[in-house]
Amino acid sequence: MSRIAQFFDLDYSRRKPWQLDWNHAKECLGADMVKKEKFPPRPRALAARREAAAAITDRLAEIYPDSHCALDFTNGFELLVATVLSAQTTDARVNSVTPELFAAYPDPFAMAAARGEDLEEILHPLGFFRSKARSVHGLAVGLIEQFDAEVPGTLEELVTLPGVGRKTANVVLGNWFGKPGITVDTHVGRLSRRWGWTRETAPVKAELEIAKILPPEIWTITCHRTIDHGRAICHSRKPECERCPLADLCPSFPLN
Ligand code: SF4
Repeated sequence: MSRIAQFFDLDYSRRKPWQLDWNHAKECLGADMVKKEKFPPRPRALAARREAAAAITDRLAEIYPDSHCALDFTNGFELLVATVLSAQTTDARVNSVTPELFAAYPDPFAMAAARGEDLEEILHPLGFFRSKARSVHGLAVGLIEQFDAEVPGTLEELVTLPGVGRKTANVVLGNWFGKPGITVDTHVGRLSRRWGWTRETAPVKAELEIAKILPPEIWTITCHRTIDHGRAICHSRKPECERCPLADLCPSFPLN
């Protein structure tokens, strides 16, 4: 798999050219942002940017004290599988199929031995169910062959698994292993640019820039809070700046 496909959690090698999901790829790249929004002004000095970011993260903590990973899981394997399944669909939809999936296939050995059509039937409500079935099956095989069926606890190891990119790896690191991880999904990428934390539209570059701005101990929780704010108020197309509790801190205010 190419590095770009890996970063986007897209296993292009398993798809025919006409099956590429360009909308998802554009979303990962933040192409909508590039076309429609200008980057807000931001301090040149890193220290000043950190100070401005701290004000926003403190406020986010007040607004969203209960933010957490929206995927349901009880162990690292379940989180890894659920995260892979969450590409191109909602966390709620993933949560609607994973109880049946994990009841039938509770560990990598059971999932690796599953019949493709049985996996496809369970994953059908998610869309792209054939490729998702292949992905989780390949992931289970990879876990067995490479890591004795244990979910590895480092970014370097996780991204060697089939279908696991940096974004998925950071979700697992942050939410199962308790290690700092920045997950640049569409919300985190968009809001980080609106807050002046980064001007990068490529998720990996954005992740590295955000890592310089925020202290590692709040990486994971800040991503959850940012996702919650993106879903609730700072929407992609019509951000509700007039009712936003971050308006006095946001360099993009007013966006419309
Ligand atoms: S003020 Fe507007 S652009 Fe800034 S965080 Fe709030 S909704 Fe988003």
